[in-house]
Amino acid sequence: MKVTVLAGGVGGARFTRGLRHLLAQRLPDGAGGTTAEITVVVNTGDDMWLHGVRVCPDLDTVMYTLGGAVHEDQGWGRRDESRRVSDDLAAYDVGWDWFTLGDLDLATHLARTQLLRAGLPLSEVTARLCERWHPGARLLPMSDQEVETHVVVAGDHGDERLLHFEEWWVRHRAALPALRFEQVGLAGATPAPGVLDAIAGADVVVLPPSNPVVSVGTILAIPGVRAAVASTSAAVVGVSPIVGGAPVRGMADACLLAIGVETSAAAVARRYGPRSAGGLLDAWLVDEVDADVVDGLVADGFRAGAASTLMTDVPTTARIAADALALVGL
Ligand code: GDP
Ligand code: CA
Repeated sequence: MKVTVLAGGVGGARFTRGLRHLLAQRLPDGAGGTTAEITVVVNTGDDMWLHGVRVCPDLDTVMYTLGGAVHEDQGWGRRDESRRVSDDLAAYDVGWDWFTLGDLDLATHLARTQLLRAGLPLSEVTARLCERWHPGARLLPMSDQEVETHVVVAGDHGDERLLHFEEWWVRHRAALPALRFEQVGLAGATPAPGVLDAIAGADVVVLPPSNPVVSVGTILAIPGVRAAVASTSAAVVGVSPIVGGAPVRGMADACLLAIGVETSAAAVARRYGPRSAGGLLDAWLVDEVDADVVDGLVADGFRAGAASTLMTDVPTTARIAADALALVGL
């Protein structure tokens, strides 16, 4: 079975780890010649150049999580991490002291930057980095071109100010009201090699519990990707990142507010839309606390179900993946 996941960072990574666990149980390699193949198309809108190195937060979160190297409590970055380099950089008062660059993490950024400088596209660089981590899935950046999400906020004098997404998210904790998001570089961007094929050729495309605006929304905004999801012969199923009217972690509510979508499991589903009415989703799994929205979603043309969706550990997350796949008969 071929599964393609459109992922952001922590939510996408944790979900994919559970999915991999599920598929390994169901379809052990070689059993009847059946294998599971997971492709993760990862948001790179959060990427940036910092201290001369290319930082790809969501790609690294997925790579470290699937590679068993992630800082489990934090959800991102390396475990057993130290910060000697960033502390010393702060002593020079250069760069962004609010953005953590762990020493081990920095090695990843240095390796990536060296390979980029040698002329490899990000998709090939990512494959090279993954050779070390054996993620058990193919990781593809959404695009080889640099597409960076920026946030438009009100300036002090009735004007507008543009911040890099990470400055808004990490430094300001999304507390400055966002007027809108702009993806700098989007117009000239194309999907990375393999992305459109992974969507068109999958048995199922999954939207994991990732930020619907600045993770999944950014991937879908790459020219050609939304159309590929809309027209794929694969089933398309999503898991709500919004539980009981709030994000489980992070500030997705601030992102949804900026695009005029209510922070609720049902509103996010309707934003993607049911395929029966020209949208993207065949099915949408909401948390059990939101079970009361299921009937309304079904009336709107979605297949919908409710189950516990809190990704507390790998077996629990595997069960969430199973519940999502079951909605589309897999
Ligand atoms: P980021 O790039 O690290 O911000 O991660 P994502 O784009 O993958 O978004 C994380 C989203 O997943 C947030 O909106 C969270 O509300 C949601 N999320 C995180 N953990 C869970 C969970 O255990 N269950 C569900 N249903 N959603 C979650
Ligand atoms: Ca992210």
